[in-house]
Amino acid sequence: MSETKILLTEKEMPKKWYNIQADMPNLPKPPLHPVTKQPIVPEDLSPIFPMELIKQETSRERWIEIPEEVQKIYKIWRPSPLIRARRLEKALDTPARIYYKHEGVSPAGSHKLNTAVAQAYYNKVAGIKRLATETGAGQWGVALSQACNFFGLQCTVYMVKVSYQQKPYRRTMMQIFGADCIASPSNKTSAGRQVLEKDPESLGSLGMAISEACEDAVSREDTNYALGSVLNHVTLHQSVLGLEAREQLAKVDAYPDVVIACCGGGTNFAGIAFPFAYDKIVKGAKVRLVAAEPSACPTLTRGYFGYDFGDVAGFTPLLWMYTLGKEFMPPGIHSGGLRYHGDSPLVSQLVHDGIAEARAYGQTAVFQSAVLFAKSECFVPAPESSHAIHCAVEEALAAREAGESRTILFNLSGHGMLDLPSYEDFLAGKLEDYQLPEDSLKEALAQLPQI
Ligand SMILES: *Cc1c(COP(=O)(O)O)cnc(C)c1O
Repeated sequence: MSETKILLTEKEMPKKWYNIQADMPNLPKPPLHPVTKQPIVPEDLSPIFPMELIKQETSRERWIEIPEEVQKIYKIWRPSPLIRARRLEKALDTPARIYYKHEGVSPAGSHKLNTAVAQAYYNKVAGIKRLATETGAGQWGVALSQACNFFGLQCTVYMVKVSYQQKPYRRTMMQIFGADCIASPSNKTSAGRQVLEKDPESLGSLGMAISEACEDAVSREDTNYALGSVLNHVTLHQSVLGLEAREQLAKVDAYPDVVIACCGGGTNFAGIAFPFAYDKIVKGAKVRLVAAEPSACPTLTRGYFGYDFGDVAGFTPLLWMYTLGKEFMPPGIHSGGLRYHGDSPLVSQLVHDGIAEARAYGQTAVFQSAVLFAKSECFVPAPESSHAIHCAVEEALAAREAGESRTILFNLSGHGMLDLPSYEDFLAGKLEDYQLPEDSLKEALAQLPQI
């Protein structure tokens, strides 16, 4: 097949999201209330989420309608292109066919806008006026700012301090769309003040910023909280990505042997992989699903599978997932979006059940593949996405070694145009690889809640 860039017409775009909870052989154990340790009920979540999202969180319906207003906004940048990486194939001298789904074309620069628009919509319909959230590297903050702007909602973003300082342009993006962006830990919340008392120099973490945003949302009647990753409803909204990709591949009579995405909280992986997991679980398709994570934050490959809190303060429900322990403080690697201690419960369960698999990579190897990709395909990828690229390169080289054809699909979760300082460090030879020492891992896991 000759096409390089494969598109869909508006008519062919998905009208429904795919919910994998309908088809999983084992569902994750239910979220537990942080205080009573009993399974949570919808009323526990209603102070911070609209009921429609709470329903989606536990829905067993296979298909859920995408509201028309959300579909309309999706059409600004969706369907995102599926691109055959011919020049990368050539550079690797591989018989493998490599396709990537380009989510970097969204106005937010990443896949996160797919769920931000949906979440802002459901909050708007529920009469909410303001959303509070946290952001790590800033992509989620940007996406939610844009989504709130579409629906006339106010937006407050607690941004992990290290990124607030390192990535000022993401802050500017949020401000363009009218959001209030605050460095976390901040003195605006008691969770933030507590951390600052212990360590005034704290550079923050995602878990910490989540505590601040949740506290903000709980303390105001007009305000809800929004989470850009991890939760089931977020994986649901991201399914547009894999549904489109499957349709696009079908147009060129292709089907992947392996589907790859980077994995932070697991939602761009879920987005591209779950529609193929459906084929695998329900129809027996022989497709491998690979989540690529940093070796400095190896949640799926070295974490513990069980209950843990989603945040540092322990406000959130206990989630059944792979975790490095909520106290885990990853080193300041350049993939800010992949530094979370936990992972999506749905992705975790699928990895645990062997339906998906995970691999971990050091950042220097990842950046080498990122630069190779950029020089071949011309797009500069986000450092997060580059974990998927590196995994795809590994697969393509293995295909060459084995002398076999192989169809590889990966998700390019975002572009790297605001991550150039990271590339600067890489090019100057300043990147270090962190292998998480067994002792630090043990120390972090010793803090896990006893259930
Ligand atoms: C946030 C982000 C990620 C990680 O989040 P997931 O929930 O694992 O998808 C990956 N890539 C980019 C570009 C991101 O912005």
